[in-house]
Amino acid sequence: MSSESRKKPVKSFDVIIIGAGSIGTPTAFYLARAGLKMLVLDSAASVGQGSNKRAIGGIRATHSDPAKISLCQRSIEIFSSWKETQGDDIEWVRGGYCFVAYREEEMDNLQQLLKGQKSFNLNINWLNTNELLEIVPDLNPHKLLGGTFSPDDGNASPLLAVHSFYQQSRKLGAEYHFNEEVTGFIVNKGKVISILTNLGEYSARYFILAAGGESREVGELLSLEIPVFPDSHEAAITEPVQRFLQPMIVDIQPKPDSSNFYFYQHYTGQIVFCITPSPNIWGHDIRESSAFLPMVSKRILEVMPRLFHLRVRRTWRGLYPMTPDGFPLVGAIKEPEGLILATGMCGQGFMLGPGIAELLTRMVCEETTANDAMILEYLNPYRQFRSQELLK
Ligand SMILES: Cc1cc2nc3c(=O)[nH]c(=O)nc-3n(C[C@H](O)[C@H](O)[C@H](O)COP(=O)(O)OP(=O)(O)OC[C@H]3O[C@@H](n4cnc5c(N)ncnc54)[C@H](O)[C@@H]3O)c2cc1C
Repeated sequence: MSSESRKKPVKSFDVIIIGAGSIGTPTAFYLARAGLKMLVLDSAASVGQGSNKRAIGGIRATHSDPAKISLCQRSIEIFSSWKETQGDDIEWVRGGYCFVAYREEEMDNLQQLLKGQKSFNLNINWLNTNELLEIVPDLNPHKLLGGTFSPDDGNASPLLAVHSFYQQSRKLGAEYHFNEEVTGFIVNKGKVISILTNLGEYSARYFILAAGGESREVGELLSLEIPVFPDSHEAAITEPVQRFLQPMIVDIQPKPDSSNFYFYQHYTGQIVFCITPSPNIWGHDIRESSAFLPMVSKRILEVMPRLFHLRVRRTWRGLYPMTPDGFPLVGAIKEPEGLILATGMCGQGFMLGPGIAELLTRMVCEETTANDAMILEYLNPYRQFRSQELLK
């Protein structure tokens, strides 16, 4: 038998997604629902094992730009109605988001942003100190100037959500291959025609790169320079206590060792929290550090002294797939054709997932709208990285 005749036949799909994470899995669901033959490849052993399972579950539409606002408004509609539409509980809670200000600088920044946010009809308001303390009575009142409150934002479980997208997409015929790493592409006449893995070769009309923090390395297989740089962040969860806190609390005040932090109480009682270290910790290392807890607990206790006696149960570390300006990269690659980027989600990939998944589906089905064109302009992978996202 010749080596040619021994070769396994190449299986064909309409779309192949690289990465079964916060973006790839919902995208497989919407593309399969549109009737397309789908394959999702992931090097990990099961769904959501990259950054997805390390996210703390915050979901907000209150961003600083129209693209992310629009995408996350749609994500909130999807997350909040998921139980009714699909029958799976993903622990969605509409607890709201609250950005606090203890200094004039943060108050001015947040109030400046508020003007733009209101022009996009977001349900967000500035609350003075007393109004804010009515919503969050346990905030430290000392020097509190007020803050924004957006009651329509919320939280859900990243793992339950990704699992539900996975199972629902499989019911619609999507195929998933785990423990299968993408190792190369075959390009013919300027177009990607198939993908190579450690186990085989698969062809498709479109390939969607949703490999999160590994996107740069996957791009290098095609000699593309995809500006996604993993930046590690740690998070933790406490023991459960009786419910006393509804919204996600975010403090954007920069300090010498950290730029911002956020926390909320899960509806089963635990406080879940996260901090952005300063300077950033670049790289793929996801081993927890001993520096994290002293740094974050000091800051949280300044804002909410009542948490002093809570015991931390577990810490973990994961990656934000960062871009130079803090905005995702979504759009078709010009050369070679056939590859669509859906990466660089920074600290917001879970909340952006369903909105981006529907957008990618309209792109593949050639059904994009004027609003999609606006979003794609903002997230264009070929943009100049001049501006900086204000609410990273
Ligand atoms: C501590 C922490 C807290 C966070 N909190 C929030 C939050 O509250 N809200 C929010 O919206 N976001 C949050 N995030 C950010 C969020 O987790 C990410 O933005 C999001 O998960 C990125 O999604 P993704 O699909 O791009 O990547 P991932 O979810 O990482 O998926 C990428 C997948 O690609 C696979 N892959 C990589 N390379 C290959 C290859 N060569 N071949 C095959 N498969 C490959 C990986 O195994 C992985 O499963 C947080 C992140 C961290 C670390």
